[in-house]
Parts: sequence; structure tokens; C-alpha cells
Amino acid sequence: MPYSSCTYPELLQRLIALDIGACRHDAPLAELNSWAIGGPADLLVEPGSVEQVATLVQFVRQHNLPLVVIGQGTNLLFDDAGLRGVVMKVGDNLSRLQIDGNRITAEGGVWIPGLARKAMQAGLVGLEHTVGIPGTLGGLVMMNGGSHRKGIGENVKWVWVVDRDGQQEVLSREACQFSYRHSALQGSGSVVVKVELECESGDPAQIRREMLVDLRARRGKFPRKLPNCGSVFLSTAEMHATVGPPGKIIEEVGLKGARIGQAEVSPQHANFIVNLGGATSTDVLALIAHVRKTVREKIGFDLCCEVRYVSPAGEILPADRKA
Ligand SMILES: Cc1cc2nc3c(=O)[nH]c(=O)nc-3n(C[C@H](O)[C@H](O)[C@H](O)COP(=O)(O)OP(=O)(O)OC[C@H]3O[C@@H](n4cnc5c(N)ncnc54)[C@H](O)[C@@H]3O)c2cc1C
Repeated sequence: MPYSSCTYPELLQRLIALDIGACRHDAPLAELNSWAIGGPADLLVEPGSVEQVATLVQFVRQHNLPLVVIGQGTNLLFDDAGLRGVVMKVGDNLSRLQIDGNRITAEGGVWIPGLARKAMQAGLVGLEHTVGIPGTLGGLVMMNGGSHRKGIGENVKWVWVVDRDGQQEVLSREACQFSYRHSALQGSGSVVVKVELECESGDPAQIRREMLVDLRARRGKFPRKLPNCGSVFLSTAEMHATVGPPGKIIEEVGLKGARIGQAEVSPQHANFIVNLGGATSTDVLALIAHVRKTVREKIGFDLCCEVRYVSPAGEILPADRKA
């Protein structure tokens, strides 16, 4: 029984009656993240409009249900026990995009590699570093994700959110307080529904060349065949300057290929943990804890996670705070 006095099948019927987008009961979370890990979510909803997002947020508030917002699940570790609450997937159903001069206005569910290519075709510079990131715009803005020491926040002009009370709000770049892999949106309970990005003008052929270089480098460096969540540990500028990037440190302490259960520190890139087949969240968390302990003992540095763990009660926290 959820916190609400209704059963989940009853809640599902109420959601369907609200015409809120695609809804499901008992949705396997393993199918909703790139690690392919996690038990069932009691309810999964995929809204197709900002109004549906707002209605869903109000619904979960009224029924006192935990709510977890996800995009492509490329930065998330779900628990083997799943989620006793509602997952809102902001994905293909909320992915309209418009380009007007140097400005791109895109919904939260837009897929980043597709967005980067559209910017390239329109001769817009600034998003080249995102072309290999397999998430959504909402997830990228939330995490201030990017590569080559850049973050999407540098191009953000405005962010439209539905706040935890179901009210729509527009936030400026300054209000989002972007910093390395961080934004003020984290932990706010807000859902990113639309973003305006500002770019410079440039030569599509040159932008395309830069993107191809990035994609080739990724293909050479990163594991591609086994499920993973990208970089597990944060790589801050301070860390680079003192001890070096996490992949190098983990390799130095001899943990490339280390394995717990079906989770393995990738032999290809030590900042990736791959699922060899049937890995559990317990395996991954134990491996994260083992890596952190070894690095602390041998190098004297505390690694922090970029990857977020989602508890069965819907709490989202850096995975090292759970491991
Ligand atoms: C192979 C691989 C390579 C990667 N390379 C990079 C890289 O180079 N740089 C980088 O920064 N990241 C990288 N990542 C990690 C990941 O792709 C990014 O963090 C991405 O932006 C997450 O987007 P997502 O849609 O998958 O978000 P999710 O993983 O679904 O969610 C991440 C966080 O954002 C929140 N969230 C998602 N959507 C919304 C929304 N619409 N509104 C509110 N909150 C939301 C979630 O609650 C969660 O806290 C990589 C991952 C993989 C698997």
C-alpha cells in the first residue's frame, strides 16, 4: 500500500482518468536506465505536455507519493527493490525543438546527440562537447553535464520548470547557479520541461569535424558493449591538479578489472563500472565502496560519485553517500 490510502492499481485508474500521458503499474526499472539495473517501479508515467507534468506533480502531492523524475536514466542507479512511488519519464513524449537564429528552444525530453546534430546543421557553435552524451536535455541541465571541462549551463539562457507544487516557473541562467556538474535545480523537486539555449554562429563543416573527433575519441576510450552509466566518479578541476583524473587513479591502485558479483571496473576505462550480465545495485554499490576505500588508503583522496543512487523510497543521492 502506498502512503496514499489507495492501492497502486486504484491510483493507476485515477491517473488514466486524468488523461496524463502513458501510465503503467509495476514497470521494470532495469529497462529505463543504461546500467540495466533495478526492480519494479509501482507507477510509471510519461507525460506529453507541460500541463500533464503539472497535473502529475499535483497528483503525487495530493496522494503524498514519492516522485522520481528521469530522462534516459544514463546517470542513475536504481535499487534492486525498485521504487515504491511514481517515476515520471521526461523523454520522447516531451521532445519538441525549435531553432530561431542563434537560439534553440527545446523540451526537457530532447535527446542530446540529436540536439547537438541539429545545432551543427543550423551552424550553431557551443554544443559540440555534448554530442556523445546519451541523455536528455532535462537530465543534462539538472547535472550541468558536458565534456572537455564544459557544462551545458554555459549555453543556457532560460529554464522552464514545474516546481514541487505543480506551478510553472521560468528561471534565468543565474538563478540556476551552474557549477561543475551541479545546478541549484538539484534537490529542488522541480521538473525541467523546456530550455532556451544561446549559441554562437559558425561553420557547420567545422562543427561537424569537431564532433567527429569527439565521437571517435569516445569510441576508442569508453566501453561500448556492456551496460554502464558513463563516468562513475566526479573529476573536478582541483582533483585533476592534485592527484589526476579518477580513471588514472583507479588504474594506479590496481583496480582495473576488479569485480564484485557481476559488476566490474571496466578493463577499458577505470572510471566506468560495467554490468557483465545480471549485476545488482548491491554489486555496484559494493564495488563503488571498495574503489573508494582502496583509493583513500593508497592515495589519501576521497572519490565522490557523479552517478546518482535512487532509493526505494524515492530519495536521490550521489551513489557514494549510499555505498
Ligand atoms: C556512455 C555514457 C557516457 C556519458 N558521458 C557523459 C559525459 O561526457 N558528460 C556528462 O556530463 N555525462 C555523461 N554521461 C552521464 C549522463 O548521460 C548525463 O548526466 C546526462 O545528462 C543524464 O541525462 P538523463 O536524461 O539520462 O538523466 P537521468 O540519468 O535520467 O537523470 C539524471 C538526474 O537528472 C534528473 N532529471 C532527469 N531529467 C529531468 C527533468 N526533465 N527534470 C528534472 N530532473 C531531471 C534525475 O532525477 C536525476 O537526478 C554519460 C553516460 C553514459 C551512459
